[in-house]
Amino acid sequence: MTETIEAPVGLKQVNHWIGGRPTAGTSGRKGPIYNPATGRQAAEVDFATPEEVDRAVQAAKAAFPAWRVVSLAKRAELFFRIRELLHERREEVARILTAEHGKVLSDALGEVTRGLEVVEFCCGIPTLMKSEYSEQVSSGIDVYSIRQPLGVVAGITPFNFPAMVPMWMWAPAIACGNTFVLKPSEKDPSASIWTAELLKEAGVPDGVFNVVHGDKVAVDAVLEHPDIAAVSFVGSTPIARYVYETATSRGKRCQALGGAKNHMIVLPDADIDMAADAAVSAAYGSAGERCMAISQVVAVGHAAEPLIEAIKQRIPKVKVGDGLDPGSEMGPLITEAHRDRVASYVENAPGEGAKVLVDGREGALADGFFLRPSLLDDVKPGMRAYEDEIFGPVLGVTRVDTYDEAIKLVNDNPYGNGTAIFTRDGGVARQFQFDVQAGMVGINVPVPVPVAYYSFGGWKASLFGDRHVYGPEGIEFYTRGKVVTSRWPDPATSKVDLGFPQTR
Ligand code: NAD
Repeated sequence: MTETIEAPVGLKQVNHWIGGRPTAGTSGRKGPIYNPATGRQAAEVDFATPEEVDRAVQAAKAAFPAWRVVSLAKRAELFFRIRELLHERREEVARILTAEHGKVLSDALGEVTRGLEVVEFCCGIPTLMKSEYSEQVSSGIDVYSIRQPLGVVAGITPFNFPAMVPMWMWAPAIACGNTFVLKPSEKDPSASIWTAELLKEAGVPDGVFNVVHGDKVAVDAVLEHPDIAAVSFVGSTPIARYVYETATSRGKRCQALGGAKNHMIVLPDADIDMAADAAVSAAYGSAGERCMAISQVVAVGHAAEPLIEAIKQRIPKVKVGDGLDPGSEMGPLITEAHRDRVASYVENAPGEGAKVLVDGREGALADGFFLRPSLLDDVKPGMRAYEDEIFGPVLGVTRVDTYDEAIKLVNDNPYGNGTAIFTRDGGVARQFQFDVQAGMVGINVPVPVPVAYYSFGGWKASLFGDRHVYGPEGIEFYTRGKVVTSRWPDPATSKVDLGFPQTR
């Protein structure tokens, strides 16, 4: 549980958003928000009590009957308005992301743009809600399916994409006619309040979108609440498992996306410079704090030496600094504790038998929560640096002799979020796509995040539940099906018939 603090005087306060307005917390429990580039506390955020979570749920419940009858045409029109406002004001929210998360501004803008694509997908909600109709299944009888919203649904989100991951959830949830309660990460919660204000400005009725901040107390209140029909979660695997088990045991629908350990296989026939560019971009972009980051390169055969050399040459050129500085390519980590945890993998690597080829603790900026990129060689299963999700700018290399050994490593890993192969051999790439146990696969693409009209999700310990987020599976998750059998007979033909209804 996050440590709560006494309120220092004069700090910016981040409140809940309930029923269309900011709502100050009453618990007296608050969490600190830092500027990771300076290491100084910039604000503090209210932590909700179960009663405050209930107020948000009641606001969402009260808004549901009127929201679900808003026509598809009006909902689509509203989503076009949301899209326009988000597009116009994307730099504003990107600056908030950089200030609280630390990622560089260009990366923050990229996050907003990828989230915006989900909003754009939802502009097509009239088409997405279309169902099926079978005429004359029996004489004078028609059957059709309809999809209806669930009611009040909730989203619980991680620190690393404070705008985009909530968009994966609230956009399809609301477009489908549900009302929504968001519990964002307590480490960088301001983007969610910015979003609430924007949705209000766009014309989303009060109570349709609510935000409660907090820690385990707020999450548990969401999971226990009898009026919440479904929970979407994105975060680390232990919490994802807990959220899935708790929510489903309370009868809720749940999709819980967890952590990752994404491997990138480089075959000897790959273009080594291209593979090195991809590995450096995917391992160190956003300081490695992406669930789709590449954290492990698997170098096959004679690819290893030139690849490692090419990665080593690129690392000193990565510009690490304050995300607001246009020259920076990589910002700080989210907190001091996380920075120290990530650094501990570099510290411990030699003791485990791995080699530190580049030590990112050297030359890191002293103020703020900075590390530079690190590169470890001879990282093997059984080592902490191999087994754990490091979630920072530390790239490990494992050397193997064959493709079969490489794919075995990927498939034996408990996570199955993203993976990539670099090769010029189409046949091997196709075999990889066929064999690999992961939900998102890149062929010469290191970060294969699906576009908004496909769905995002991993396999194994990277996803609990059977529906991926956004895209067509997002629409399925936030709606439930109903099948109607209908006939309009001539009353004169009516008679009692106790037999089981048949179509022939
Ligand atoms: P986290 O699991 O610590 O927190 C996620 C959410 O759970 C937050 O809202 C947090 O307040 C809440 N939470 C934390 N501890 C809790 C507890 N004990 N009980 C109940 N709720 C709790 O994750 P994080 O550090 O914010 O984010 C990083 C993690 O998220 C990484 O593991 C990363 O791989 C994962 N992630 C996964 C995806 C994906 O799509 N699979 C996407 C982004 C991030």
